[in-house]
Amino acid sequence: RAAKALVGVRDELKLSLAAVTVLNDRYLLRDEQGRATESTGELMDRVAVHVAATEDTHRAGSSAQWAERFSALLRGLEFLPNSPTLMNAGTRIGFLSGCVVLPLDDSLRSIFTTLGHAAEIHQAGGGTGYAFSHLRPAGDFVAGTGGMSSGPMSFLRLFDTASDVVSMAGRRRGANMAVLDVSHPDVYEFATAKAGARDELSHFNLSVGVTDAFLRAVERGATHRLVNPRTHKTVARVSAADLFGAICEAAHACGDPGLLFLDAINRANPLPHRGRIEATNPCGEVPLLPHESCNLGSINLARMCAHGTVDWDRLTAVTTEAVRFLDDVIDVNVYPFGELADASHASRKVGLGMMGLAELLAALGIPYDSDEAVRLAGRIAAHIQRAAHAASAELAVERGPFPAFADSRFAASQPIRNAQLTSVAPTGTISLIAGTTAGIEPMFAIAYTRSVLGRHLLEVNPCFDRLARDQGFYTDSLATEIAQKGGVRAYPGVPAAVRAAFPTALEIAPEWHLRIQAAVQRHVDAAVSKTVNLPATATVDDVRAIYLAAWKAKVKGVTVYRYGSREGQVLTFAADR
Ligand code: ADP
Repeated sequence: RAAKALVGVRDELKLSLAAVTVLNDRYLLRDEQGRATESTGELMDRVAVHVAATEDTHRAGSSAQWAERFSALLRGLEFLPNSPTLMNAGTRIGFLSGCVVLPLDDSLRSIFTTLGHAAEIHQAGGGTGYAFSHLRPAGDFVAGTGGMSSGPMSFLRLFDTASDVVSMAGRRRGANMAVLDVSHPDVYEFATAKAGARDELSHFNLSVGVTDAFLRAVERGATHRLVNPRTHKTVARVSAADLFGAICEAAHACGDPGLLFLDAINRANPLPHRGRIEATNPCGEVPLLPHESCNLGSINLARMCAHGTVDWDRLTAVTTEAVRFLDDVIDVNVYPFGELADASHASRKVGLGMMGLAELLAALGIPYDSDEAVRLAGRIAAHIQRAAHAASAELAVERGPFPAFADSRFAASQPIRNAQLTSVAPTGTISLIAGTTAGIEPMFAIAYTRSVLGRHLLEVNPCFDRLARDQGFYTDSLATEIAQKGGVRAYPGVPAAVRAAFPTALEIAPEWHLRIQAAVQRHVDAAVSKTVNLPATATVDDVRAIYLAAWKAKVKGVTVYRYGSREGQVLTFAADR
């Protein structure tokens, strides 16, 4: 059935089979018989026309002209917005944001209102994040009934079950982030929740919200207080190092929990008077206040390369248009409930990021795990940030600054249109559509087999494939052999310079993952989604070292993943099966 459906898809953009498959399955509009009614190019036009429609409401705007410019940007795969924009622009759903943070106050009404709101957002393809930190702990007093509270973990399971139910009707699995403050009395249960049972909380990423004070206590071997958020009373004093050890042990076992560095996040909070930020979206790249949403979009760095170097002028031009595109998305977005619209209009946060960093580095012959790569990654992030802020300042002249500007940390400087401009998303699906590497992640494999439509297809990284053919060492048997292991670093059949420039995630030492993340974070307004990959043999102490190093590197959050530690891992290599 799927194979037949694909024949009908007109692919004008010369996308990979994997990209066409995912677009056909979930993104193209269809008629009542389920047949796709648009081609991949028409999808891009639909999005461009819909988003540009708001241009006519602005002084200098012209929707027809901008629709054309946006369409060229998307069709050229130089920039893609997050999945909900591709799926929903110009449709009945109309919700275009990738992610939202919702409030959870210590009352049943607040919890169940948010549960309902989350279902609506998941149905539209968006992800949700929440801080569970204000809910009273399990066993605490409930005045209305004289009974005992079941605590944040019970509500967390409820949200997970709801996501499961909604996912079955939706186009993708609901994604959630739960954050619990490290001072919450139930933090042990939270930290270890996913390490025990395999299927537990499968729609959630978990992060413990840690403070500088807690991490200093870990280092000094001091005690740490657990505080009931309802009474503000200290209910226990524990060893900070023991609690941190439990967190690291769980992360070693299953990848969860990650850490959110709440002080670093709030030092960068553009609207400190509107409240302390306590949560992020599911993959951690956007810290938000409750009810704020963020429209993400990513520049394809693999297309920002000319004559063996980065095309800085093109990068500036694409950034400028992308900022305008994302600002327009805020206006045409259809928000499922009023609080979302109000919060999003007040701060006008957007998240412009990048994908294809690893492909760009490989094309330039720069190993991902080198000082040169760290320097270039930082330079690119700085360039995008500078150009994005300039573009937003220009939009402010034309359209006015974001309404909460006077209340923001920018109040004394040049007016800007958006309280937050840059962020680095995982780009899980859009990088597949663009045919490049995800976000700022290294390549996962140089060659591997992917099962598409019941057949095992050998997929070779296109950049490696081209290079290997150019240099004359490509053979099918070489590709098949590489697919056994995934990487080429230790493979003698490949020239040394090529081996150096094509490392895979697992061949790169964890320190280099973190150094790239930190270099990029230094020049990103919001946060950076990045996984620090660890070999299967990594120890709990290795996790501990990375978590502390991440804090010192001033990133806003950290996630580790130890190879093989989760069942049903998406990709494995033949030699490890
Ligand atoms: P995409 O490539 O599909 O645009 P990303 O992988 O960049 O998405 O993820 C960006 C954000 O979108 C995530 O941080 C999360 O908030 C949201 N998201 C990702 N995957 C899902 C999903 N399966 N369901 C709901 N939201 C998701």
